[in-house]
Amino acid sequence: MQSVAIIGAGPAGLMAAEVAASNGVKVDVYDAMPSAGRKFLMAGKGGLNLTHAEPAPRFAARYGTRRAEVEPWLGAFGADALRAWAHTLGIETFVGTSQRVFPREMKAAPLLRAWIRRLRESGVFFHMRHRWQGWQGSGGNGALRFATPLGEQCVQADAVVLALGGGSWARLGSDGAWTTQLAGRGIQVAPLRPANCGFDCAWSEHFRARYAGQPLKSVVASYTDNAGQLHHQQGECIVTETGVEGGVIYALSAPLRDAIEAQGSATLHFDLAPGRDLQRLTRDLSESRGKRTLSNHLQNKAGITGVKAGLLREGYNQAELDDPRQLAARIKACPLTLTATRPLDEAISSAGGVMFDALNAQLMLRDAPGVFCAGEMLDWEAPTGGYLLTACFAGGRVAGLGATNWLHAAAALKLRTPL
Ligand SMILES: Cc1cc2nc3c(=O)[nH]c(=O)nc-3n(C[C@H](O)[C@H](O)[C@H](O)COP(=O)(O)OP(=O)(O)OC[C@H]3O[C@@H](n4cnc5c(N)ncnc54)[C@H](O)[C@@H]3O)c2cc1C
Repeated sequence: MQSVAIIGAGPAGLMAAEVAASNGVKVDVYDAMPSAGRKFLMAGKGGLNLTHAEPAPRFAARYGTRRAEVEPWLGAFGADALRAWAHTLGIETFVGTSQRVFPREMKAAPLLRAWIRRLRESGVFFHMRHRWQGWQGSGGNGALRFATPLGEQCVQADAVVLALGGGSWARLGSDGAWTTQLAGRGIQVAPLRPANCGFDCAWSEHFRARYAGQPLKSVVASYTDNAGQLHHQQGECIVTETGVEGGVIYALSAPLRDAIEAQGSATLHFDLAPGRDLQRLTRDLSESRGKRTLSNHLQNKAGITGVKAGLLREGYNQAELDDPRQLAARIKACPLTLTATRPLDEAISSAGGVMFDALNAQLMLRDAPGVFCAGEMLDWEAPTGGYLLTACFAGGRVAGLGATNWLHAAAALKLRTPL
């Protein structure tokens, strides 16, 4: 029986394992960690956002410049197929606010438990605490080398699926160390960069001490990139000790990160009163303040208090704050200059990874026949909203099918070749 080694027991690797096992291939799954799917379980802590219910073309557009590569995976296994698949594991899903799709229990653990049980029943064998360290010898078809608690072990497999994840939250297993191994073999790998990440900015000591940890809601964050494209998102974010993070910031994080890399900083604007237009705000704030403090006036006339009021004051002088026109304009477009992304390890996901030029449509490495790649380790990125997991599942399926078909084709060729 032909065998495939799947390295990485996250959503992408497990999906590849499922497809290969259901097509009659012997499947061994290897992972560096003591148990499977640790990042998937962590994703479930804040309410597992499995996928998204928006129309397919909008969904595909979330993958930006990698849409052309990812869309075919989604065509074969998109949001509806993913929900139906979860159902076969006994997991009901529902469409929540803003069309996000969640399992009814909101957690990842019941799905992962049922999935691993089903994989084991179908013959998939799990080898935990096996850290892949590359291949024996300099060629790509040597045995796979694993560091295990019993020392180094070498494994020969007929095909390999690498599903090693990105480079964030290294303590959950995906540490991006594979980039060195693949780049060392001449595979094109784009450097891993933070995606869906927080940013640093220069808070005043007063603002930091007073507001770090507080949510900024509801706001609209907007950013116009160098090409003149406006990116904007309504929602909330958190003021941190060093800057900002959370929903609206993650949504804009790719263009903000790119701008910081290119020019050292990026300035976004917050609309701190999304429900009120500039004209009305100017009129209301122009009404006589009497003996009221500016804080009371802002609260009464614009509904601005607490951290929002603090943000208005950051780097702004009293004369500007006393002018109703300038104040209203600042409420509608309060600038914040970001100077750095937070480190990759803190990000929700990674950009960069194995470049699509290095892969064929079945996700096999052109320079390493029989070696397939899937999941976050590939060079695509997407915002939060279930798009990350959906592409990992769907890409894992492509790689698993690719490996299966490659093995079947190799077996057929062997049968036809005279001894
Ligand atoms: C806090 C948080 C919340 C998230 N929430 C969501 C969400 O709600 N919705 C969503 O769509 N996405 C979410 N994500 C992102 C999502 O979890 C990931 O995109 C997804 O898990 C990536 O799947 P993967 O299979 O490619 O990689 P991973 O899940 O990272 O799995 C890779 C596996 O490879 C193993 N591995 C790595 N290197 C080696 C090696 N050398 N040898 C052996 N094994 C190795 C790792 O141990 C790991 O088990 C969240 C991420 C985080 C951090």
